[in-house]
Amino acid sequence: MTGLPDLVRRFGTPCYLYELDEVDAAVTALRGALPEGALLYYSLKANPHPVLAGALRLAGARAEISSTGELAAALAAGFTGDQCLYTGPGKSGEEIAAAVGAGVRGFSVESVADYQRVTATADALDSTVDCLVRVNAHRAHGGSGLRMTGVASQFGLDADEVAAHPDRFAPRPGGRVTGLHFFSLSNARDATTIAAEALANLEQAARLRAETGLDPAVLDLGGGFAAPYANPGSRPDYAELRPLLESGLDQHFPGWRAGKPVVAFESGRYLTGTCGRLVATVADVKHSRDRTFVVLDSGINHLGGLAGLGRLLPMAAVPVAATGTPATGNGVTIVGPLCTPADLLSRDSATGTYRRGELVVIPNVGAYGLTASLIGFLGRPAAAEIVLRGGTVLDASRLELRRTPLDPLERT
Ligand SMILES: *Cc1c(COP(=O)(O)O)cnc(C)c1O
Repeated sequence: MTGLPDLVRRFGTPCYLYELDEVDAAVTALRGALPEGALLYYSLKANPHPVLAGALRLAGARAEISSTGELAAALAAGFTGDQCLYTGPGKSGEEIAAAVGAGVRGFSVESVADYQRVTATADALDSTVDCLVRVNAHRAHGGSGLRMTGVASQFGLDADEVAAHPDRFAPRPGGRVTGLHFFSLSNARDATTIAAEALANLEQAARLRAETGLDPAVLDLGGGFAAPYANPGSRPDYAELRPLLESGLDQHFPGWRAGKPVVAFESGRYLTGTCGRLVATVADVKHSRDRTFVVLDSGINHLGGLAGLGRLLPMAAVPVAATGTPATGNGVTIVGPLCTPADLLSRDSATGTYRRGELVVIPNVGAYGLTASLIGFLGRPAAAEIVLRGGTVLDASRLELRRTPLDPLERT
């Protein structure tokens, strides 16, 4: 077990610390909340670190990927191509070919053109792929979280369009439609919201089956599982989900217990959010007018880069050892070291006392941390990433952006 001061001596700050025991605990908790035997996909978008993704693979998860970079991370984590589901709008022929070449045989298709391109590309490689049609459900329930369907969306096909033109989803050279994919909700803390959404998707799938004759062999019901972000807190308890989901399946797809259809769910943030902390050092404490600015050695280049788009999320930077007289009181603004006023981590929400040279910890940033941030902006090195198991260092690395020369006449 390595203590925080020791880790900081070895690797410096800023650094991300990821604890794999917590990843395992999250997988166990989520599996317990899902229907018995359901497949669980880990969305590498949340954190593509290959050692984390590898831990999820060993815990029995599959990989949900949507780029060649995530494909490479999944393969580096030990996933085989056929354990990957390739999703996302706007897939290019090149990336589809790369995925098929790596053995990926499962794709979520987001439009008729996407279905045609995926199958044609597979066919040109003498392969056959299974496609899930991503459906933008016809109606959706209210509730918390970030909603992505039930209204106009760049994701998936409107259920009405699928129902009106089932011929467009007939088998083609290179592949066929084997199921449906829903992902309509994100970051919903209460089980009832998630259950209502999943049940609405189940009803939608049953309706589509009746309208089109498409009997799904695979039913990916999405997710929406929440996790605290950059603030203290713990994973929501979803224990009450399983009976709700199982009875919905029994009603609409009674063969599911025998794997007809195979039922799948997806999660990013729930599985890795709580495993990670960002440790930073207070580089300076400054006063301007009535405000105190705490300048960290880490900012939107390492965390919450969406803040650079004006989406400031409240964050808590918790001092590790508050010693001496309080340097600050209310009106504390926590900023990073970048030369832009957008490098703002927290305004007014900060509590505690901050002194130059002290460590602070931003909790629960294992998902949507480093790779969701502006790592190229202002040219500072990426935060180090340290993976721990039971407090012992397993892996330490740093991501690097690097410029590669291209032949001006050549496309890679
Ligand atoms: C982003 C994404 C996920 C993961 O979302 P979380 O909120 O992190 O669980 C799952 N599936 C798809 C299709 C996604 O785009």
